[in-house]
Amino acid sequence: AGAAGVERHRALLEKDGAAATLAAALRFSELLADPANHGRCRLCMHDTGRYVRLDASALRALNVLPERASASASAAAPAERAAAAGFSLYGLLNKCRSPMGRRLLLRWLKQPLVDAAAIEQRHDAVEAFVNDPEVRDALRGAHLRALPDIERVTRKLERRRASLMDLCRLYQASAALPYIAESLGRLAGAHGDAIRAKYAAALTKLHDDEHLGRFEALLESAVDLNKIPDEYVICAQYDDELGALQARKDEAEAEIHAAFQEAAGDLKMAPEKELKLEHNNMHGWFLRLTKKDETKVRKKLSASYQVLEAKKDGTKFTNKKLRALSQKRVDLDRSYETQQKHLVDRVVDVAASFSDVFLQASAICAEIDVLASFAETATTAPIPYVRPTMCASGDSDEIVLEASRHPNVEAQDGAQFIPNTCALRKGESWFQIITGPNMGGKSTFIRQVGACVLMAQVGSFVPCASAKIAIRDAIFARVGAGDCQMRGISTFMAEMLETAAILKAATPKSLIIIDELGRGTSTYDGFGLAWAISEHIVNEVKAPCLFATHFHELTSLKGPGGVANFHVQAKIDQTSQKLAMLYTLAPGACDQSFGIHCAEFARFPEEVLEMARAKAAELEDFSAEGAAAGAGDVAGALGAGEKRGRDEGDATEDAVRGAARARQFLADFAALPLPDMPPADAMRRVQQMKRELEADAADSKWLQGVLA
Ligand code: ATP
Repeated sequence: AGAAGVERHRALLEKDGAAATLAAALRFSELLADPANHGRCRLCMHDTGRYVRLDASALRALNVLPERASASASAAAPAERAAAAGFSLYGLLNKCRSPMGRRLLLRWLKQPLVDAAAIEQRHDAVEAFVNDPEVRDALRGAHLRALPDIERVTRKLERRRASLMDLCRLYQASAALPYIAESLGRLAGAHGDAIRAKYAAALTKLHDDEHLGRFEALLESAVDLNKIPDEYVICAQYDDELGALQARKDEAEAEIHAAFQEAAGDLKMAPEKELKLEHNNMHGWFLRLTKKDETKVRKKLSASYQVLEAKKDGTKFTNKKLRALSQKRVDLDRSYETQQKHLVDRVVDVAASFSDVFLQASAICAEIDVLASFAETATTAPIPYVRPTMCASGDSDEIVLEASRHPNVEAQDGAQFIPNTCALRKGESWFQIITGPNMGGKSTFIRQVGACVLMAQVGSFVPCASAKIAIRDAIFARVGAGDCQMRGISTFMAEMLETAAILKAATPKSLIIIDELGRGTSTYDGFGLAWAISEHIVNEVKAPCLFATHFHELTSLKGPGGVANFHVQAKIDQTSQKLAMLYTLAPGACDQSFGIHCAEFARFPEEVLEMARAKAAELEDFSAEGAAAGAGDVAGALGAGEKRGRDEGDATEDAVRGAARARQFLADFAALPLPDMPPADAMRRVQQMKRELEADAADSKWLQGVLA
């Protein structure tokens, strides 16, 4: 853009890191390498506050996007690849009929909205399409489906790389717009008028005589429509010079045919039957006789004709007159081609002035496509989705999803999904701890809540019986172990980094989903961390949070925001001793552990299971005593674990001192400003605190026992 351009953008470029980021982006995209890109891009301020913040881990946890086509994925069978793509919100919601729609859906999924009115507008449109299947089918089954990739072709046109064929595809798109507008015009229901005003009226305007009407007229006059789809050429009547060249070409062709007739008379061979007039790139126009016929006139040929080629399929020859005419025709063809090319460039130049109009039309079609796709997904789901009630987050502190389902899990073949209600209410159940057996459905439940909130804010209906959602400004997730060895980060470190990022960035208007925090280290460290982080979320961050855990001691957490315990239910058949998952969510903490039953499912060797049962029997169940040991007290909960199987009366002075030291450790840990500390420093500090604790344990048998 030169110095003047830089000057114009000074305010933007002086923002923190903006210039360096721009330089990196330019270099990465190699935008400057192609002069056709010059002057095509604008620098503008993008307000990220309009969209829900989604960290990479939330995108992964909620399966928002299809899995990247990794090497292994590309090696996988097509059915598996399709399944992997299907198990994502994109795969589920993508019933789009146009490439522009599919791209827009990807963008919307990464940028859910926070503005209540904008979300409602999308919901209105989806509702209108849900209620009018006829219009929806007309749009999806015919008009949108037939659209070419308007956006991509227009980008080509902007770079003057479009061919006549591309222009004809845009013509086809332009011609489809009135049909789309007409279908939208028929939309019934309360929201029909708003949609007609927003989309149909805009399309009609774009297609009027001032805009695409002119584009269509240009193509109709410039392109030889009769030759499509065999050939895409400018028609001769479009340009005087081209017309004159065409006339001369026709004339030369007539002369060639006359020379052919003349030669036939001369050789006394029946034209078209014995003597053939042919054309190829090497010889231009020439005559051909079969080998047999050639022998009859060989003498004459050698006297006044020139043999070009003698092969099994016949002899090709010409004479002076035909050669001159052929050359004349070839020269005319060349001039004609040059003029064609020149005219195509001119037409492309004029057509490029319609780029903006096409991009606007493309954007409108893409939106209609995505909204109709949302409606299609909502109606074709195993149980139809419902329109959520959205509340600006200042107006309500409630997220209530009645009988919610996980959209992807319920869509799996043969799935019998058990719906569960989630009611996050400030002061009551703003922080929910979900316990329960392995494979009991904890992760599925907390993710389905995240997925429903995200879907609602993207503009889709949700898989619930009813839904009321206070709009979120961010969704954060910490699930599963995702290590980044390539970046030199261990599993546990990755977990800590992700959690630190959540604690730092979340606000009371965010939604936090945490699954299995603190598994990658010793039970005590893990539990300490889980407790400290939970307390921080409850007391400082104050965001609604779903926390699935196996640390039953955590269920004694209390806080002003409202901490509630839930568990996924399972039952053991008394006769067969088999564990059956119920997948239902019930209030309260889980009173039993089922890990060994899960190992049974996984067909562990019997002797391993026996040993596990014996060891588990030695260490009594945490939770009941943990809760009794002092609600809201970390060391109390931790101490309860240690006290298992012992008599209350055995509590010695050592245990009291040891518990005090453990409490001190956890208080110190909770006080660490983790989100503000560089991860390496945080790790160092925690390790040092751990070493000090271990040193103090030298004087306390109780503490040694805990640490062991
Ligand atoms: P773990 O503690 O081992 O991580 P989990 O409690 O998080 O287990 P999930 O991974 O959520 O368990 O669920 C295990 C499987 O159970 C899911 O893959 C799904 O097939 C099934 N499932 C979960 N919830 C439901 C439900 N509500 N209805 C039907 N099936 C369900």
